[in-house]
Amino acid sequence: MDRVIIFDTTLRDGEQAPGFSMNALEKLEMARQLARMNVDVIEAGFPISSDEDFEATREVAKQVGSADASPIICGLSRVALMDIDRCWEAVKYAKRPRIHTFVATSDIHLKYKLRKSRAEVLKAAVEAVKHARAYCEDVEFSPEDASRSDFDYMCDVLEAVIDAGAGTINIPDTVGYAMPREWGERIARIRERVKNSAKAVLSVHCHNDLGQAVANSLVAIQNGAGQVECTVNGIGERAGNASLEEIVMALKTRRDFFGVDTRVNTQEIFRSSRLLSHITGVHVQPNKAVVGDNAFAHEAGIHQDGVLKEKLTYEIMRPEDVGRATNKLVMGKHSGRAALASRLKDLADKKKEIFDEDLISIMKDEIAHVPETYVLDYLHIISGTGVIPSATVRLKKQEQVFQDSGVGDGPVDAVLNAIDAITGLKGRLQDYQLRAVTSGKDALGEVSVKVDFDGTVVPGKGSSTDVIEASARAYLNALNRLVHPAAGRKVQEIGP
Ligand SMILES: [Zn+2]
Repeated sequence: MDRVIIFDTTLRDGEQAPGFSMNALEKLEMARQLARMNVDVIEAGFPISSDEDFEATREVAKQVGSADASPIICGLSRVALMDIDRCWEAVKYAKRPRIHTFVATSDIHLKYKLRKSRAEVLKAAVEAVKHARAYCEDVEFSPEDASRSDFDYMCDVLEAVIDAGAGTINIPDTVGYAMPREWGERIARIRERVKNSAKAVLSVHCHNDLGQAVANSLVAIQNGAGQVECTVNGIGERAGNASLEEIVMALKTRRDFFGVDTRVNTQEIFRSSRLLSHITGVHVQPNKAVVGDNAFAHEAGIHQDGVLKEKLTYEIMRPEDVGRATNKLVMGKHSGRAALASRLKDLADKKKEIFDEDLISIMKDEIAHVPETYVLDYLHIISGTGVIPSATVRLKKQEQVFQDSGVGDGPVDAVLNAIDAITGLKGRLQDYQLRAVTSGKDALGEVSVKVDFDGTVVPGKGSSTDVIEASARAYLNALNRLVHPAAGRKVQEIGP
């Protein structure tokens, strides 16, 4: 049976999307889980975009890509030779490194972004692929904005880069413009029109602006694509990328229809989805296919009755197949076991039952661990009907202890104002999400925030059985990220 290569770009395209940024440690945790899930390729970053992304890509190559059976570790670069050099410096530690280079081929991009002629872009693409091949056997090329590129010109570029040594040709629908039938036809036509296309793996990279990313990826597979680029939970630029879990489960559930297979261990899908949510603080919608909270919940009585009698009546996939039944905890060597143990003890004192989700939530706090410049030491709130909410907060900064108080519109506001009074930094809450991790009145509350500190927006998260304390922890997590030097990053260009 034919096997489709699953190229995961959660750590590159996904991570570039606003609100999804991850630090090197978080990328490493996620990369380990992607390897456990058995994806074929991990695109770990865009090394020239920032020093932090360079280091993250390098660490993924070193620590996740070093074994014989490790996934291919890929880095993105533009066609500039310096970009490729930098990319190689980061991915070269992997057993199987890949350089992915791209340049736009649509007239819109040529005219307004690159200010280059078609001939110049073709030449640059060929030179880039040759330069990358001098370092690395495995080179991928993408003509950015392929869906809006002149077809014949794009095919000329593809033929030239295959001759130059590109082993994978990735066709991105960068702006999510394509519709399934025309996209499928386009992929089939590339196979026919590009004379040497049999020498390369044809790949697609679909965006979800019109909700067609998964459909376009699947139809491309039916028309000769041997690789699909996708992300966990479908995260990515704007409306996101094609969702890995949906593609993989569509191919598995409808093997009769597609007749192709992947290497993905589907039982790791749910855990990957939840780990990503925990790291980024962004949760999937309940009705999200495969990984949403309701994806396997049967509410209607008649459905419940049917499912109890025979699961196949309403279930086309089994929750176990995506790892939902077993919620085994993911723990890495950087997970901070001592911290985990102490938080767990605290929790056990407050809560009757501890669920897997509780552990994962605490774990997430530890994974998200940034050096704690400020540590929450004490918190006292006065709040109620007809009372002006006020808070007293004590923070530790190394050996020093600071205490201050604040008032606010509500207890959370009062606590954050008290923290601001201590640190002298004024944060504006841009986003605040509270979520109960488990059910029950003593459930662990998980707070995700985005705080604007004078133009720098920093994410933070925290959990506690007390939602006010969880809010304070989330805010302090953001604050600690801000004062930690690696907080800022620059992205020069978006990529395919
Ligand atoms: Zn993209």
